[in-house]
Amino acid sequence: MRAVQLVKIGKPLEDAEVSLPDIGAPEVLVRIAACGICHSDAHYRAGISKIDSLPVTLGHEIAGRVEAVGEQVTHVSPGDHVCIHYLVSCGVCDFCVRGNEQFCAKVQMIGKHRDGGYAEFIKVPSRNVFLLPDEIPLEHGAIMMCSSATALHALNQARLKPGESVAIFGFGGLGFSALQLARAFDCGQIYVVEIKPAKLETAATLGGVPIDATVGDPVQQILDATSGKGVDVALELVGSAATMQQAVRCLAIQGRAAMVALSRESMSLCPYPELINKEAEIIGISDHLATELPLLMQLARNGKLCFPERTLRSVDLDAAQINTTLDQVERSSDHIRTVIVPSGIEDSK
Ligand SMILES: [Zn+2]
Ligand SMILES: [Zn+2]
Repeated sequence: MRAVQLVKIGKPLEDAEVSLPDIGAPEVLVRIAACGICHSDAHYRAGISKIDSLPVTLGHEIAGRVEAVGEQVTHVSPGDHVCIHYLVSCGVCDFCVRGNEQFCAKVQMIGKHRDGGYAEFIKVPSRNVFLLPDEIPLEHGAIMMCSSATALHALNQARLKPGESVAIFGFGGLGFSALQLARAFDCGQIYVVEIKPAKLETAATLGGVPIDATVGDPVQQILDATSGKGVDVALELVGSAATMQQAVRCLAIQGRAAMVALSRESMSLCPYPELINKEAEIIGISDHLATELPLLMQLARNGKLCFPERTLRSVDLDAAQINTTLDQVERSSDHIRTVIVPSGIEDSK
């Protein structure tokens, strides 16, 4: 089968011909219909996030049709539309049993520690395979498996309740989903902090209150808009020292700041006024959970999470096209998402 692989760090991905994986009794072979190209993939190619073993087929945002199932698999059958949870865990350790598989000592990320979705087929354990309702396009199913799922996990971990106000720092792929999901949970006002006019405009069309960080301190703007109260939940999706600090400083009494963006920066904090006296919380967010995916699909099915035509585009399973997309992703300033749709996929129906 065709695959596009990372062979050497810092070099363009390469087209490869690899053997079709054999499946064991508890495994599923999926014919990939769509695989999202993610910012993390650009980090892997550049060597910013470390990859242990090469070559590897990248791609962790995957949807497709079941091609074959092992003899122990009962919840899906050939032909079903499915999407794939990207963390393959042991299933038996304390973290896995508690449903916190992202901390499993043996956890492997698809498209990083094991071959991923830049290919025609993928083999995965059956518990990583989730039925995708037919009315959700496969392309949407694919991109929901990363940023939308993590946005949902962040809102869950921040314990967002109906009526509570939200501030979203950074309006890329995560913010785009987070705003829609927060609305689906009947939250109060949502403030979207950004510096790019086009993103502020999109946030406003989705019902957010744009906060333009270029015209003044966003914390002060949020305080002014909330009669000095601040917000109940802040989502930090940028990862700069300034925005991390702002996400804490804009909190109301008993507010929660969910820190999501990968960052190597430090932030300073004045604990008494900013945390202690308000009983505010700072919460770290890592990945998302298999148990959160069914709700995500239900929200997409009800139209509460959508990806308009203009926010998606597709390329073929072709190293040159994918490398060009990764170059664009590295300097991306919008929330256009690109999915790989392997040509010839319709022939298999
Ligand atoms: Zn991703
Ligand atoms: Zn485990």
